[in-house]
Amino acid sequence: MKEGVEKSLAKLTPMMQQYMEIKERYKDCILFFRLGDFYEMFFSDAELASRELEITLTGRDCGLEERAPMCGVPYHAAHTYISRLIAKGYKVAICDQLEDPATAKGIVKRDVSRVITPGTVIDPAMLEEKKNNYLMAVYCQQIYFGIAVVDVSTGEFYATQITWGSSMRKLIDEISKYKPSEIIANEALTTKPEYKSYFREYLKIEPSIIDGELFSLKNSHDRLVEVFNENPFKNLDLAQCASGALISYLESTQKADLKHIEKVKIYKIEQYMMLDSASRRSLEITETMRDSKKKGSLLWVLDKTSTSMGGRKLRQWIEQPLLDVDEINLRLDAVAELKESFMVRNELMELLRGVYDIERLTSKLVFGTVNARDLLAIKSSLSKLPYIKELIRDLKADYNRQLYDRLDLMEDIYALIDASINEDAPLSVKEGGIIKEGYDELVDEYRRASTEGKVWISELEAQERERTGIKSLKIRYNDNFGYYIEVTKANIGSVPDDYVRKQTLVNSERYTMDKLKDIESKILGAETKVVQREYELFCNVRDTVSQHVKRLKTTADCLSVLDALCSFADVADRNQYVRPVVNDEGIIEIRNGRHPVVEKMLEDAQFVPNDTWLDNDENRISIITGPNMAGKSTYMRQVALITLMAQAGCFVPAEYARIGLVDRIFTRIGASDDLASGQSTFMVEMTEVANILENATPKSLLILDEIGRGTSTYDGLSIAWAVIEYINDKAKLGCRTLFATHYHELTELEEKLHGIKNYCVSVRKKGNEIIFLRKLMRGGADKSYGVEVAGLAGIPANVIERAKMILEELDEADINQSSKKRKQKPVDGQLDLFTSSTLTKAEREVIEELKKIDPSLLTPLDALNKLYSLQQKLK
Ligand code: ADP
Repeated sequence: MKEGVEKSLAKLTPMMQQYMEIKERYKDCILFFRLGDFYEMFFSDAELASRELEITLTGRDCGLEERAPMCGVPYHAAHTYISRLIAKGYKVAICDQLEDPATAKGIVKRDVSRVITPGTVIDPAMLEEKKNNYLMAVYCQQIYFGIAVVDVSTGEFYATQITWGSSMRKLIDEISKYKPSEIIANEALTTKPEYKSYFREYLKIEPSIIDGELFSLKNSHDRLVEVFNENPFKNLDLAQCASGALISYLESTQKADLKHIEKVKIYKIEQYMMLDSASRRSLEITETMRDSKKKGSLLWVLDKTSTSMGGRKLRQWIEQPLLDVDEINLRLDAVAELKESFMVRNELMELLRGVYDIERLTSKLVFGTVNARDLLAIKSSLSKLPYIKELIRDLKADYNRQLYDRLDLMEDIYALIDASINEDAPLSVKEGGIIKEGYDELVDEYRRASTEGKVWISELEAQERERTGIKSLKIRYNDNFGYYIEVTKANIGSVPDDYVRKQTLVNSERYTMDKLKDIESKILGAETKVVQREYELFCNVRDTVSQHVKRLKTTADCLSVLDALCSFADVADRNQYVRPVVNDEGIIEIRNGRHPVVEKMLEDAQFVPNDTWLDNDENRISIITGPNMAGKSTYMRQVALITLMAQAGCFVPAEYARIGLVDRIFTRIGASDDLASGQSTFMVEMTEVANILENATPKSLLILDEIGRGTSTYDGLSIAWAVIEYINDKAKLGCRTLFATHYHELTELEEKLHGIKNYCVSVRKKGNEIIFLRKLMRGGADKSYGVEVAGLAGIPANVIERAKMILEELDEADINQSSKKRKQKPVDGQLDLFTSSTLTKAEREVIEELKKIDPSLLTPLDALNKLYSLQQKLK
């Protein structure tokens, strides 16, 4: 078999053999094979690319009986085609000619110069400006994980590891934070039972499995020393192995120096506020749940940054709220000062608008892909620095002072680019026109030769007309023949003896002569020489600038921080936000708080502000009732968002806010995504609740909306009741919680348990209509107004009337039932659910089973599983 393949390979043309040999090494990529002015693709790559890019599929003789399927794209337009393939998740290997085809002997040497994958794109044209593009390596070892993340376009590199708790979920939460566009992993990851549901169905990203050897301790140690001159990991083997594999992968795809990646930032997941993936989605931090758009998210309100770098920084801040009071206050102080300094802020924002993406330009510098225009963009950005520095000179806040001290004006680099690069340099670096006059003597001299040469030519033309008496004689130029004298057929008789014929046309003859050859060699020599010299000088300037990558990156960082701070300050000023008091005292007090996004989206209505008080004592849990559409979930989300904003160092939409640090926010709002597919909505909901109960701490904030809705009323109510009891119990959790519910029975808990308070979102009934007042008040809602809300939603009036009648009948029946029940002895501290005399056999069994349970021996998960199985018995 193998022999057969080799035989048929041997039949291939030499160029096709070269292609096959290279393709063999890049099997998982679409190979762009440079042939003249085109990148060609062959065989299955060609079929795939022609389909995906809608380009014509042709064929090429390859030595075999059938022609090889082929399609191609012009090399100068390749990047648009590449970006389309990358956006669809493919990897592209660029195979270039390594020698000049004109001078090459035999077949031109070719090899892959770069592999572009979704996670390694550096071309700004292919990237979203205000969003990092991450590549992640996951190292799975039994039940634990190492994680390393890099943004090649900016040089940021992070690493961490997960060695506790239900780690697969933590891994998913971390992946949801970064939203990497590409993941590489070792094989072990795919053997996890949850792999398919989590990656394929939930995250919708398929990790590429790479050689496990690349994750070894030895490889990672060597790679780290190679790039960072040291191994920064101490006793963090999993994170180290993931980082090593990531560097190996970068080296094999980028084939360039990685010096713009200066350091690995090693962090602990619990160092930042933890937000699980469901909470990130439901709080709509960076994108909306419904259509994944920025508009309508928290980021949309807060991001008024002027630069792409600042946009990315601000996004990172709200994706990773802080847990250190001092660090938070450092940011808040700086924002406060910029908020007050209106003029300074305005001018800074204006200046920053003229700053390009220095971070990504620096990466291009390192990869050697900058052109003269990129250098000009760096120069123009640097030209703003003295003004920016001057503006922040008198700021007093520590963070602002640090920025002032760190901001390097880079005058030397500015001066170098300013002196050398022409303001209107072209895109191409190999066609001249780049170097400024006066920068290099040789360039000036060649240029003189070529301009003066043109004068010499016109002088010669005049002389020859004079000498020969041919008035129509012209000296012309074309690429094939160079300079020539053109004489029309009618005048050939007057041509002197020293003209040498070069070419005969229908109506004219073309000649040359010694003097013309002389001038020509001077001019043409100068023109090629100047282009060559300019390219050399450009490369020198580029290399000199790229030796200052570290300084450029520091400057970029200062500017991005300043930009993000200005944006926070500006938004605070425009939207009447206040500075939150952040401490570690456990109280969340918000006066007249607003939802930052909903208040912006309301068109003709005014947003109604509301108060909040949660603590770890008397006010641990607020049970919130009220009809649908009253504003319960808006209110709960607003509390979560205000907390998150405060800990990100941002001012908040309220009149006053005091935020006792929150270590994790968990939300369970509405119909959640089907995490573990194939399960009922109820099962999904219960899994999520189990996760919350398992991972929340006394310092967490829980937002729970309609827990237990997915099952029958009594089941749901029992579960909600038990969950509240568990959360409220200080020995178990005792954390701050907002709990919205339709079960009015739950309001009984306020009297039974310390730590619970009832609230309702008020509505007023006016005739047949209900008016939403949106005001949160103490006490439980008296009625659910479900029928009225259904009316508002457009259910026909006769259906609504009938519903009202049924409701009245049910209410009456309920009253009779309750009075009967009251005569029986109530079970103390329990819901009055189980005292009916008409129990079925299954119900009695369930009660017996319940009696046998010792709750103190159950974990929350066991409890929920038990509840679920009890419920099944009743179905
Ligand atoms: P619920 O969770 O009680 O069903 P929502 O929180 O979804 O209700 O609110 C329904 C709608 O009411 C929101 O989309 C918003 O437009 C409006 N709304 C909610 N809270 C307020 C408020 N405090 N001020 C003004 N409008 C509000």
